[in-house]
Amino acid sequence: ALLQADAEVDSVCPYCGVGCQLSYRVKDGRILEATGRDGPANHGRLCVKGRYGYDYVMSEERLRQPLVRRAGVAKDPADIQRLRRGELALSALFRPASWEEALDLAAAGFKRHLQADSPRGKASPLAGFGSAKGSNEEAYLFQKLIRQGFATHNVDHCTRLCHASSVAALLEGLGSGSVSNPVADVQYAEVILLIGANPSANHPVAASFIKNAVQNGATLIVADPRRAPMSRFARHHLAFRPDSDVALLNALLHVIIDEGLSDPAFITARVNGYEALKAAVAECTPERMSEICGIAPATLREVARLYAKSRASMIFWGMGVSQHVHGTDNVRCLIALAMITGQIGRPGTGLHPLRGQNNVQGASDAGLIPMMLPNYQRVNHAEVREQFEALWGMDTSLGSEPGLTVVEIVHAAYEGRIKAMFIEGENPAMSDPDLDHARAGLARLEHLVVQDIFATETALLADVILPASAHPEKWGSYTNTDRLLQLGRPALMPPGEARQDLWIIEQLARRIGLPWQYWQAEDGAGQAPVARVFEEMRQLMAPLAGVSWARLLREEAVVTPAPREDGPGEDVVFIDRFPTPDGRAQLVPARFTPGPEQPDAQFPLILATGRVLEHWHTGAMTRRASALEALSPQPLISMHPEDMAALRLHEGQAVRMSSRFGDVQATLQQSPEVRQGQVFLPFCYWEAAANLLTGSALDPSGKIPGFKVTAVTVQAL
Ligand code: SF4
Repeated sequence: ALLQADAEVDSVCPYCGVGCQLSYRVKDGRILEATGRDGPANHGRLCVKGRYGYDYVMSEERLRQPLVRRAGVAKDPADIQRLRRGELALSALFRPASWEEALDLAAAGFKRHLQADSPRGKASPLAGFGSAKGSNEEAYLFQKLIRQGFATHNVDHCTRLCHASSVAALLEGLGSGSVSNPVADVQYAEVILLIGANPSANHPVAASFIKNAVQNGATLIVADPRRAPMSRFARHHLAFRPDSDVALLNALLHVIIDEGLSDPAFITARVNGYEALKAAVAECTPERMSEICGIAPATLREVARLYAKSRASMIFWGMGVSQHVHGTDNVRCLIALAMITGQIGRPGTGLHPLRGQNNVQGASDAGLIPMMLPNYQRVNHAEVREQFEALWGMDTSLGSEPGLTVVEIVHAAYEGRIKAMFIEGENPAMSDPDLDHARAGLARLEHLVVQDIFATETALLADVILPASAHPEKWGSYTNTDRLLQLGRPALMPPGEARQDLWIIEQLARRIGLPWQYWQAEDGAGQAPVARVFEEMRQLMAPLAGVSWARLLREEAVVTPAPREDGPGEDVVFIDRFPTPDGRAQLVPARFTPGPEQPDAQFPLILATGRVLEHWHTGAMTRRASALEALSPQPLISMHPEDMAALRLHEGQAVRMSSRFGDVQATLQQSPEVRQGQVFLPFCYWEAAANLLTGSALDPSGKIPGFKVTAVTVQAL
């Protein structure tokens, strides 16, 4: 009888960028079960997170009422550990408040910095982080609040920590930051290059489609310092030295050009910059590059030939490529590979950066980035600003100077330049690099308002905490890694006094003087406010032109760009031109340069941070999902058995890992998957927060930190 559901609600998974469609079976205000639906991105499949990761929604730890910091209680980053260890109660830091009081306090703190003589633009003391966990509509409204209400473009989100370098290179080279072909296209590929990605853990359903393609005859090449599970299916596993991506890829480019394997007709018709690229890689012989990347010249030659000669070659990559201080250069090389061989614009070809969060594509599309308004329209173009100012009914001007990015904002908070922040659904007190510094920066803010469903590590440093709605408690659209727009539906009501995120954002906007009316009294928990925001987005975002809210309700999933309401969206893009001013791709050569984190006698190992199958990002949701937490309950440092033997360490031993930035303690596990000289630690565990170890040096174009390369030492406790 317990499993006799009252209702079945169709929605999408709240976790990774694959965007699996699922159904929740609901009874008495509780989710009983999640099952896969036959969506375009998953064909009924779900991974362990989608299938068993839903009960965080019903956690006792959900925030149920607004909270305000108690008078006289200072912000202390050390409270994060004390509270998590059970040595401190949340009620010692915060007191309950009514919505009226909490929203008034939240708005008053921002208004203090919105006086006539307050700095505007990049120099503004205000900033906001929106979230890729939220819907497109929430992302759009959040960035609108910061830009229109806070009068600054200091707005960003976790794309800055994940694929910002990929987007920078793709926009520069191809004029579009999104994927060229969907994951499902892998069924048409003859050769698949998977580089710097571990989809078995991070995009498991996508991994299952890649494995199916290999079972059906495709050749898989895995390039990754770690011997991740997909390498078992690969013809070649290139376990290159960490951070030598450019050397490896330049060697492939050299071989392709040197052996006449490029596609001259495609280059002549559609590519700029070929001669400069050819000159730049002329010296990058496999023999020379082998000394840097550690892969045998013969293997480099064979892989280059496989990729270039195949009928259809497709490239997937993940954070292993993008999270570097030269992540943009890494992606420039991948773009060059596809361009000089014409491996783009057809089924089974192209470039696919696997997106991490369920809506990181959509949040970026919706303008949650400091240099671009929705649909990647640059803030420094006057005609773009005028269009937005007119539609947003502004009698002041949007600034022309791009805002600060995530790490820059937290650094500015540390230095006292940013004084007040609104953070919705992000957890920089776990996800930012150099965490001691980042947490100190957040604690120094004069005013921090956090909107979330749990008292996250970041919320513990707030002045006001606003209890929000979880993914299965609201309407919204989400854009997956394939550019597929899908519909999320509410299965439950938010607990206690927790409210819809859009309502909260609008309430704050009204209190700082914006005349917003998306949410009207008669709307209740219905979809009307979401639909109003979505329809406004469509007016400013050409790829959504053919997707009305009514069409989304009817079809559940529409791939974008969708130019016409009566026609399908475009699965494969760049068929005959690129969305650049002259319609051609622009090659940008990259040169190998060593990064700042070099191992030495004191820090002889290289740490790569990342994710595990059972947990998602900073763990705010999955660590409160009982099945997932039971499967993966503690931080483990993975190390190669021979390194362990050399250091006289053993499996299960408690160790201290230290870097130039901090240290953590955790248990050691033996892992032949990890390359010798490298260690791995997931970043979801507060008990050993991996980002206490990482540094904040940034890629100059994407402004992304180098999470994949930190020099460390590991010692027995
Ligand atoms: Fe959810 Fe991603 Fe797993 Fe699909 S693959 S069920 S979207 S976490």
